[in-house]
Amino acid sequence: MSHEGIRIVPEDVARKATGQQEELSREAIDPERVRVHQSEGTGVEIVWKDGHASHWTFAWLRAACPCATCVEQREADGREPGQPKPEPKTALPIFKPAARPNKVHAVGRYAISFDWNDGHTSGIYSWHYLRSVCNCDACRPGTDPAGAATPSES
Ligand SMILES: [Zn+2]
Ligand SMILES: [Zn+2]
Repeated sequence: MSHEGIRIVPEDVARKATGQQEELSREAIDPERVRVHQSEGTGVEIVWKDGHASHWTFAWLRAACPCATCVEQREADGREPGQPKPEPKTALPIFKPAARPNKVHAVGRYAISFDWNDGHTSGIYSWHYLRSVCNCDACRPGTDPAGAATPSES
């Protein structure tokens, strides 16, 4: 007679197995209000129809460009969307202006695109994509806002 036993799966493991690719509801990917703070340069705010609010800086959005070239580059570097390219270690610091869009376009009713100040224009940021990369504390519990990622200089 064999003992099957009771398998106890820790709750978070079980949730990971089932809920990882959670489907977003229609309301979750439908913006109620979109604000692009182009002249202030502070980024994009979206309030979704399900009540959720998202905010991204332009620098983050530039580094999360969803075009094929940028996605490939990020995959090659092992970067997450929004994670900037590592700066080349050169003796002379190269001045790079902060990313911001010269122009913002609506793409049909499902996306926006930016003409970035570095000349890049091919990324189409769909509502679905933006919601899936929401940067708020609730959606990104893994990131430490205390700044564990900031390199310490001595
Ligand atoms: Zn791109
Ligand atoms: Zn969120």
